Amino acid sequence: MNDKSGNDVLTADNSELSQSLPKTMRAVVIREHGGPEVLQIEEVPVPVPGPGEVLIKVETTALNHLDIFAREGLKGPGVPKITLPHVSGVDVAGRVVYYGPSIPGQKKHIDSGERVLINPAIGCGECRWCRQGEPSMCPDYHILGEHCWGGLAEYVAAPARNIIAIPDHISSEVAAAIPAVYTTAWRGVITVAQIKPSDRILVVGASGGLGSAQLEIAVATGAEVLVTAGSHEKRQKALNMGAVAAFDSHGDWEAEIMEWTKGEGVHAAFDSVGAPTIRHSLRCLQMGGKLVLSGATAGDSPDLSIREIYQWHRKILGAPLGNWEDFLQVTNQVWRGQLNPQIHHVYDITEIAEAQDALDQRKHFGKIVIKISS
Ligand SMILES: [Zn+2]
Repeated sequence: MNDKSGNDVLTADNSELSQSLPKTMRAVVIREHGGPEVLQIEEVPVPVPGPGEVLIKVETTALNHLDIFAREGLKGPGVPKITLPHVSGVDVAGRVVYYGPSIPGQKKHIDSGERVLINPAIGCGECRWCRQGEPSMCPDYHILGEHCWGGLAEYVAAPARNIIAIPDHISSEVAAAIPAVYTTAWRGVITVAQIKPSDRILVVGASGGLGSAQLEIAVATGAEVLVTAGSHEKRQKALNMGAVAAFDSHGDWEAEIMEWTKGEGVHAAFDSVGAPTIRHSLRCLQMGGKLVLSGATAGDSPDLSIREIYQWHRKILGAPLGNWEDFLQVTNQVWRGQLNPQIHHVYDITEIAEAQDALDQRKHFGKIVIKISS
């Protein structure tokens, strides 16, 4: 059968049609760890969706630092070992083309041919955490594109329960910008830190995908948002998005923020830069302030003072991705136009090395999106 766009649409009950699926696809394959030069565009077999899974023809995939960690073969606590060859890609928007064998109780809530967004947080679906909608707490937790092949390819297989429909008025570029950073930002700002309109907060590194999402969500709560960013242009963009003050991340921003706040500091700081900045973020917190951590892109082992934490009643909170409620809350805010993900640039799949380099060199403001197919 054909869907509205004229694409071939296949269902599990039609094995003849399933035979007509392409056997191979273009993918960005990592066969050895290293710099952008190790990324190769190759023809590899199209994944076969297992029980309860769905095959998606990828339209867009947004980049995350996780793509660079996978490419470089990052090691350390909390970092899963990547098995080579690997295809990364966490944030995927595309079109359902084929359902694998159904599992007992599975409802096909989205028809073949529909455009969908994948929630990249994959759990077992059955443990107590999964039943609470918290796949990132599941003992079997994995992330699409990290523990299994992801969306930097023409096709990707994912659990059917992890897809949601994208409304017609939202582009696949904007949709792909949401899952990792907007869900994490919502989790941090709303669910974990419970930011209120009277709060004053600090976003460290507000130009990145996560930082710009934290800035946008925090501004929407009515809070007073201070940011750091690495260039005049980025600071100006942050101010245009509603930040009340933007400080140079290469300067003595800790002292400048304490002066700007007349020595009061901030209620909460969001720091995903990591080792180089976390102690400064901590010192910017007022009595009882919260430091929310969702990443460590520039280093994982900071030099911290324990007394600077407990003597000030400060709290350090983790917010790695979000739960289903966070994912659905934030996607609905985008669908309704309440949040507008910042897209830095859309690259073609053939420009993947350049795109990852732009992310690595922090040349961007907002998300870098890769166009895989239309
Ligand atoms: Zn589970």
